[in-house]
Amino acid sequence: MRICRFNSDRLGVIEGKEVLDVSEALKCIPAVTWPLPPGDLLIANLPQIMEEIDRLREEAKRLPLDSVKLSSPVANPSKIPAAPVNYLKHLAEAQANPETFHQQHVQKIHDVGLFLKSSSSLAGPVDGVRLRYAERRNDHEVELAVIIGRTADRVSREEALDYVAGYAIGLDMTLRGGEERSLRKSIDTYSVLGPWLVTADEIKAPGNLDLELLVNGELRQRANTRDLVIDIPTLIEWASSFYALHPGDVLMTGTPDGVGPVKPGDKVTARCEGIGEMEIDISLA
Ligand code: MN
Repeated sequence: MRICRFNSDRLGVIEGKEVLDVSEALKCIPAVTWPLPPGDLLIANLPQIMEEIDRLREEAKRLPLDSVKLSSPVANPSKIPAAPVNYLKHLAEAQANPETFHQQHVQKIHDVGLFLKSSSSLAGPVDGVRLRYAERRNDHEVELAVIIGRTADRVSREEALDYVAGYAIGLDMTLRGGEERSLRKSIDTYSVLGPWLVTADEIKAPGNLDLELLVNGELRQRANTRDLVIDIPTLIEWASSFYALHPGDVLMTGTPDGVGPVKPGDKVTARCEGIGEMEIDISLA
């Protein structure tokens, strides 16, 4: 199932080139009071919501996909863990260019571990990326994003994929420079998620997906997730050995080689096999 958030607060399911408005399914989210549980309520209740969607879809209002505004399919992740250099060719690219890629970027992932992006940096296709410090280099990083479905605390790699709700395309935007990585990657709109969430049952082999990124139609990045240095189950095992992952947490799995700068006015196209395609406009904040 391909589940989207559209026109700011509507829930949709994608069928071909149409969006079915199944917002009524949101009613099965239990009422909550302060303090809210960590994580995203849509994702935490996804199994029941999917049942409701199946019940509603025949009668649902249909809209052309190109007529709706797509937001991030996750609204409230508790955190966005991310893998640094997790493709060997990208490591070589970073090591060859020390002026652009700071010291912490050219070390092996096994030595540096994962990092966190702020949850407030999350954006969807409709938001685009709004650049800050535009006089400096701002790079695109296309990644497979894994959306955690239920609380995962110290889970083994063998059971890790049982905790996954689904997958989406992630754009891990990065301001280059010497500051802490988490600061440079946490600018508002610098974590784009979309165009929708594809539920885990539809992606049997997340470790074998082609992904690519184009800027103004020019191919910049192309890879397959089979080339990840640390695979998805091991990333989940590793992350959850430090902290519990909550429903809706977005794990960015790392970017392949070909990262490069974008500027205001650019149009980024990101594609991933089994998920789809999204277009992101780059502008000034
Ligand atoms: Mn990245």
